[in-house]
Amino acid sequence: MADHTGKNARKRAQRRVDTNSIKTTTLISFVVFALFLVMILWGLSNFFLNRFYERARSQEIINTAEALEVQFRQDRGNFDSLAVQTAGTNGIYIRIDTDDECFIFDGTREVEGSDAFEGDVRRIKSRLSASPSESISETRRDASGMGSRLVYASYIKENGADNILCIIAPLYPDQVTVRILRNMLIYVSFIVLAVSLLLAFALSVRLTSPIEKLTHSATELSNGSHDVYFDGGGFTETKELARALNKASYEMEKTDFYQREIIANVSHDLKTPLTMIRSYAEKIIDITGDNPERRNADLNVIISETEHLNKLVSDMLSVSNIQSNNVEMHMETFDLVSAAESVYESFRVLESDGFEMHFHPCKPAYVVGDRTRLTQVMTNFVSNAVKYSGDSKYIDIRLSRSTKKVTFHCIDHGVGIPSDEIGHVWDKYYRTSANHERGIEGTGLGLAIVKGLLNLHGAKYGVESEEGKGSDFWFEMETVRKPAAEKSAEDTE
Ligand code: ADP
Repeated sequence: MADHTGKNARKRAQRRVDTNSIKTTTLISFVVFALFLVMILWGLSNFFLNRFYERARSQEIINTAEALEVQFRQDRGNFDSLAVQTAGTNGIYIRIDTDDECFIFDGTREVEGSDAFEGDVRRIKSRLSASPSESISETRRDASGMGSRLVYASYIKENGADNILCIIAPLYPDQVTVRILRNMLIYVSFIVLAVSLLLAFALSVRLTSPIEKLTHSATELSNGSHDVYFDGGGFTETKELARALNKASYEMEKTDFYQREIIANVSHDLKTPLTMIRSYAEKIIDITGDNPERRNADLNVIISETEHLNKLVSDMLSVSNIQSNNVEMHMETFDLVSAAESVYESFRVLESDGFEMHFHPCKPAYVVGDRTRLTQVMTNFVSNAVKYSGDSKYIDIRLSRSTKKVTFHCIDHGVGIPSDEIGHVWDKYYRTSANHERGIEGTGLGLAIVKGLLNLHGAKYGVESEEGKGSDFWFEMETVRKPAAEKSAEDTE
């Protein structure tokens, strides 16, 4: 009991702080990002605000000075009002020295009324007169060390007189502005943190909810319920995953259905010959045992049913081996045309039963494959052609070559396949309805084995057929160069 409670507590703790979950990872990432952003904001405001402010303000003051110069030159009458306004709004000290007068417009808050910047003005004026340029500026540190100021001077030439414009501007933001900015920054930091937490939460919920739904459906599927539907939510990736899972679930359902059907078919196919064997054995014991002729006839039925059973079981084994990829292939390079010829030769014995076998070879065509298995494929096509040839006992075995390809055709002029059933003939245990009715014997596994073997060879295959007219079963393989060993053997001959 105690152990159980302990386990639960551990589970709960794990659920609470699962650092590998999408939720926690998103949350941590967003918080880290937000903190990084806030740090950058604070860093910038503390270390770079003053420098940035100084540069921007210096440029602004120089632009203002140029505007004042233009105003002085072009409209002297309105200069004073512009200077007063500019000094006031920008918080700067403006001074114009003409030949006989000096005008001061002081908008700075630091020193009101008095000409505290006299020293700066004297210095910059002497530097301007020594300099070849029309204007000059310098940045000076305040004595308090609190900040610095821009000192600017330029000539304003007017009717041959050299008037001098001086501007002095503090280059640091006033403390109230700085405080307001700091407060704003605190608000911004909290907002950034809160928004990123909200975003992280919303995103993680959006991301995990389809995954949780998929997990739930997968659990149901693993518990055996096949009618589950995987819902991928709104993301392309989860939608694709859901599509793949729906397909897998559909395939599982199909496999289950086939498995049931196969068991039913196999039981039926095994039961029929077994019943026959049993009845004929009983017949021999009870009736025909003493009559050698009738007994032999019954024994022949038993032997043929045993052969049928044998074939059925070995076909089933082959299909199962192919399905579980348990087929050992002995790949070699060989001439498909001569292999086909051997198959043709082996069927010629049927000519005595009225069959007309025709062989149309092409030039030798070397392929890489398992000779025995490909011979099995060709034999299967031809034995089907024989089986389903109906009244026309005319069978063509044809080989054709195109660039780098060789195609084997087995053409009969027999019963053919109904067009709506043609797609199924390669399926396990499939036998066309007409052949069932005709009572032609077969396991329905031959073409499934052929399909598996041809797939193992990467060959293309197919069938063209018309009901009542016959069928053309074919497969196509890539050709390769003739092996050097065969070439040299031919040369020595
Ligand atoms: P089976 O043992 O029944 O011949 P196969 O897998 O070889 O099994 O063939 C599957 C079904 O395809 C056959 O039952 C038959 O209905 C059809 N089929 C195969 N070959 C031919 C053919 N040459 N002509 C007509 N029908 C064919």
